[in-house]
Amino acid sequence: MDSVSADVLDIVNPATEEIVTSLELTSLEETDRAIERAAAAFPAWRAVAPGDRARLLRRFAELVDGAVEELAQLEVANSGHTIGNARWEAGNVRDVLHYYAGAPERLSGRQIPVPGGVDITFAEPLGVVGVIVPWNFPMPIAGWGFAPALAAGNTVVLKPAEMTPLTAIRLAGLAREAGIPEDVFQVLPGKGSVVGWRFVTHPAVRKVCFTGSTEVGKRIMAGSAEQVKRVTLELGGKSANIVFADADLARAAAAAPYGVFDNAGQDCCARSRILVERGVLDDFLTLLENAVAGVRVLDPRSEDSEMGPLISAVQRDRVASYVGPGAPVAYRGSVPDGPGFWYPPTVLAPVDPASPAWTEEIFGPVVAVVPFTGEDEAIRLANGTEYGLSGSIWTENLGRAFRMARAVEAGNLSVNSNSSVRYWTPFGGMKQSGLGRELGPDALNAFTDVKNVFLATEQ
Ligand code: NAP
Ligand code: MG
Repeated sequence: MDSVSADVLDIVNPATEEIVTSLELTSLEETDRAIERAAAAFPAWRAVAPGDRARLLRRFAELVDGAVEELAQLEVANSGHTIGNARWEAGNVRDVLHYYAGAPERLSGRQIPVPGGVDITFAEPLGVVGVIVPWNFPMPIAGWGFAPALAAGNTVVLKPAEMTPLTAIRLAGLAREAGIPEDVFQVLPGKGSVVGWRFVTHPAVRKVCFTGSTEVGKRIMAGSAEQVKRVTLELGGKSANIVFADADLARAAAAAPYGVFDNAGQDCCARSRILVERGVLDDFLTLLENAVAGVRVLDPRSEDSEMGPLISAVQRDRVASYVGPGAPVAYRGSVPDGPGFWYPPTVLAPVDPASPAWTEEIFGPVVAVVPFTGEDEAIRLANGTEYGLSGSIWTENLGRAFRMARAVEAGNLSVNSNSSVRYWTPFGGMKQSGLGRELGPDALNAFTDVKNVFLATEQ
């Protein structure tokens, strides 16, 4: 970023381009000290009685609940999220904390029948967990890491994205108010290459929970191999929204813009490829154009806003590079006049399946449409990517819905819906979209190791 000086970072409001505040970046030495404090705090934190740890997390959740509006306003200013989305995001942190507050008392092992004694397993916390968060969903993605990690008895160091640290810093303050000791949950705003990479190389950090680009995710995974460090990776996506001729076309088309333009397309689950059965392509495109025209791209502070700006000028230019001269623009929405990193909702149709707009993650409000004939071609097109995060199948045929849901290689699929995320169901990617699962009951496995203990009972 051009606004970075030696160790101070200006935080810019993406809708106004005004500086919101300036922050000191955490240095390498400060990162080391924070990790050492987190390691020192671990034995006492894991020893907190399950019911007491649960109570602390519930108190934290209640303080987040009381601060939903404050956190949401902070996110609107820092990230340009619409106020409606930002309130949902703060509420999601609260809900995820409540959900995992139920975990300390339920982290039970198994008793396995063996001869000559008793065999039991324990779900042991790992130690210090490093959580690395991207800029697209600063609050939820932070919570998906720190809530289960803390519940399982780990201490946490968390690095927000350089551009979007404000809500994470406030959440750390709320944790403190709730009585969670300072060194148990620390937020370290700073550079990925300094703070984030130190999580990978510091031996006291026992696990890295990373969300971001596939490119950096691969480096984190390779670096973690050095210490056989555990990793959870939530990476990119290029998810398919598959619309069959037998679907409720009006519903599918009305929902499609929100499945890709939500958060201005800066969503790893964005359904950025729409596959439409050939016979209904024209009808679908007409309905889609109407639906896209209805998306309200407004000042994110407005209660009516459905889409705000992109995070930065760099991201806007990156997105624009996929819509060069000669791009098959079928429809383009409008954006507000004046400052801000705006890009209009854009439909490309029909797109050559070999073009970058079809194969690469754009991470902006651009959707590409390709026709298909029959289930086999739909599957081949949908799976013709190294990504495999989410996707949708629109059909009124139940058998087809299940055949397709089993055949599409993605971790999170929805039928006649574009929603991927519920805090109590597992979330994560197949193929190069990631490794491991967050949320739901599965996340706790990612923050514990199984220990097996055999106790001889024979004399
Ligand atoms: P990124 O570089 O992968 O950043 C994600 C997080 O990793 C940030 O906190 C970043 O810190 C940190 N990081 C960067 N380099 C690191 C390193 N060497 N070691 C440890 N941590 C490191 O993503 P980006 O540059 O913000 O976005 C680029 C593209 O990635 C997007 O356009 C999009 O396609 C994709 N993306 C995907 C997701 C997702 O949810 N799957 C999220 C964000 C971006 P800094 O903020 O200091 O760089
Ligand atoms: Mg980057």
